[in-house]
Amino acid sequence: MSFTSFHFHEKIAAAIKDCGYAAPTPIQQQAMPPVLDGHDLLGLAQTGTGKTAAFVLPILQRLMEGPRKKVRALIVAPTRELAEQTHEYIGKMAGKTGLASAVVYGGVGKQGQIHQIRNGAEIIVACPGRLLDHLDAGAFNLSKLEILVLDEADHMFDKGFLPAIRRILKYVPKQRQTLIFSATMPDEIRHLAENILQSPVTVQINHDLPAPTISHVLFQVEQQGKTALLKQIMEQTEMVSALIFTRTKHKAKTLALQLEKFGCSVTSLQGNLSQQKRQQALDGFKSGKFKVMVATDIAARGIDVSRISHVVNYDMPDTAETYTHRTGRTGRACRTGEAFTFAGREDMKMINIIERNLGKKMARPTSSGIETESFTANTEMREERPRSSQVRRKSNHTPAAAAGNQNRRRAVPFDFDVRSLSQGSGRKDRLTNAG
Ligand code: AMP
Repeated sequence: MSFTSFHFHEKIAAAIKDCGYAAPTPIQQQAMPPVLDGHDLLGLAQTGTGKTAAFVLPILQRLMEGPRKKVRALIVAPTRELAEQTHEYIGKMAGKTGLASAVVYGGVGKQGQIHQIRNGAEIIVACPGRLLDHLDAGAFNLSKLEILVLDEADHMFDKGFLPAIRRILKYVPKQRQTLIFSATMPDEIRHLAENILQSPVTVQINHDLPAPTISHVLFQVEQQGKTALLKQIMEQTEMVSALIFTRTKHKAKTLALQLEKFGCSVTSLQGNLSQQKRQQALDGFKSGKFKVMVATDIAARGIDVSRISHVVNYDMPDTAETYTHRTGRTGRACRTGEAFTFAGREDMKMINIIERNLGKKMARPTSSGIETESFTANTEMREERPRSSQVRRKSNHTPAAAAGNQNRRRAVPFDFDVRSLSQGSGRKDRLTNAG
């Protein structure tokens, strides 16, 4: 199938060509025809599948006809980052059409947003809270709205936005086309879809299945050994660009500082940062100024940065779905990627669930040792160690021997050669700005 079969307006077709898209992705193949025909749609697709284009391109096509300088499409997104990213994407695809979008979220001034909209935007991309502020204040109205998109609806629910969504619905015309995109289908989203979609077409792409282009590797390591392990991996693995997930905002910040001291070109993205700092971090990571970003789930969800070669789960995700979302940051648009997961003893239940989801076991770094010895041996790992001690010592640990070693502190905490995981003999300085 090719994009020509959708008969997009030539100005939209030119933008698709400029992006270098060879063919529509599966979600685009399935979702675009019904959306172009004006149907409501429930799209079950995770980020990284090309879902944004699946609604943005048909919206642009529709808006090429009919009145200009009136808000005719609204895309609601759960995070500022996703809203900003979608707005940017529209800017790229609508560049030649004369159509404009405005972006609306909290944490920044209201007047600029109102100005953008009154200036004649046809599309608004918005987070629910700030949008409601504007609507309640009568800053603009949505009486001419034709298309409503709820993007990452499951995440919207996670963040407690469903009441806000229901209030937003009171401000939009009943006669409209509605599209809901969601990576998962919790009951609340199913109910919402039943309530607000009319005779929808449902399309489902790779629901809960990580992209096949990703290889998954498990490092069994206890908490206190994670940073040392991460540094070793960074020294020995060819990482073009890495996204590292931590459970807490505090850890994201402190780990980024530790890696910076280690010589990494690193930034962090977490909810305690001002909107301006978040945008700077994201822009820096996108542009390649920072090769590593340490982030929390909430901050990183939906981030679209191509060429992330590695995702590292420094802390385990809470659910298998979160694992899919995190690791979906790499291996995007048919590139290959590697997902490294650090798991302690208490995380093995979740690993089992994730592996069931993957339909296979994650790779373990060595055939000997790591699976049996790691829990005991790694609890002895030192958080910091001199960089000169990059020794890969041959270990003869058995579970019994390891148990006997429990009280001995070891300078070399584990025994595997991370180079065996990745092709090439990359060096840490690939992750620095130096070269
Ligand atoms: P999304 O799932 O919307 O976050 O998109 C993930 C990435 O896929 C974005 O960088 C898009 O630019 C890219 N993309 C979207 N459609 C296509 C396509 N048909 N071919 C190749 N890449 C695409």
